[in-house]
Amino acid sequence: MRLLLKRYFLLCGVLSYFLFALPLQAAAMDLPTEELVPGGIAIIQIQSASNNNAAAPVVHFQNHRVMVARFSDDYSTDWHAIVGIPRSAKAGEYSIKVKLGAEQTTQHFQVQSKHYPEQRIQITNKRLVNPEKRDINRIITESRIMKQAFTSWSESRVGNLRMDWPVSGPISSPFGLTRFFNEQPRKPHSGIDIAAPVGSPISAPKSGKVLATGDYFFNGNTVILDHGQGLISMFCHLDRIEVQSGNLLRRGERVGTVGQTGRATGPHLHWSLNLNNVRVNPMLFLNEPSNNGQQ
Ligand SMILES: [Zn+2]
Repeated sequence: MRLLLKRYFLLCGVLSYFLFALPLQAAAMDLPTEELVPGGIAIIQIQSASNNNAAAPVVHFQNHRVMVARFSDDYSTDWHAIVGIPRSAKAGEYSIKVKLGAEQTTQHFQVQSKHYPEQRIQITNKRLVNPEKRDINRIITESRIMKQAFTSWSESRVGNLRMDWPVSGPISSPFGLTRFFNEQPRKPHSGIDIAAPVGSPISAPKSGKVLATGDYFFNGNTVILDHGQGLISMFCHLDRIEVQSGNLLRRGERVGTVGQTGRATGPHLHWSLNLNNVRVNPMLFLNEPSNNGQQ
């Protein structure tokens, strides 16, 4: 009888694992790579007595909602916060605010410094470095659209956070470079540039919903894709946009084609990846390249 009971419980355990545990979890291998530096990401296990609850914690970092995912190691299944660290962050201690049921806590994490090299780019169309008065309203409107997209939040399970390359090609400019256009200091490089001929197909690196498309002053033809929980892709300098706002794309579906519209010195895809309103290094989310050069 004892043996039978044991078998029964074992069977229940196995069944409930397949019925309940699997759909809730992201396997550890589906996670991005943690890098505790400016422009990197922190993966923080939520320290709470009720962490094993099915209800997701609500996490904030610098007043922005933070992605959470439930995954397990060999011992437990716990909620983790996946936090984007601003490129402008100084080395030191940072904290997240965690709300789980009635319980509110603060958790800390350390950020190390990272040296990003300089990049000096010459642009022949000077208007794209020092815009004229007539360009200002357009630039303000477009930056509002982008900010609204980057600060938007959609509830969804994050699923597999490892992404596919949106286009095949070598990295022509890595993330985070300190930049000068025509010897004038500008914002650091907010994404990666993948060089590819005009017309090369761009595909969704992960499923998502198109938040906005447009022809922007600096970014040229642009598509913004929401992957859920504040993880948002932006693709710039496209030759052709092949999607519309509101479209739901599966992983691998076409977004458009590579071009050199906007402020670009040659055909490439600029891809930036936003997490809790922070532009993070997309390399941390990418699957191993098959024929792409590493940064
Ligand atoms: Zn770029």
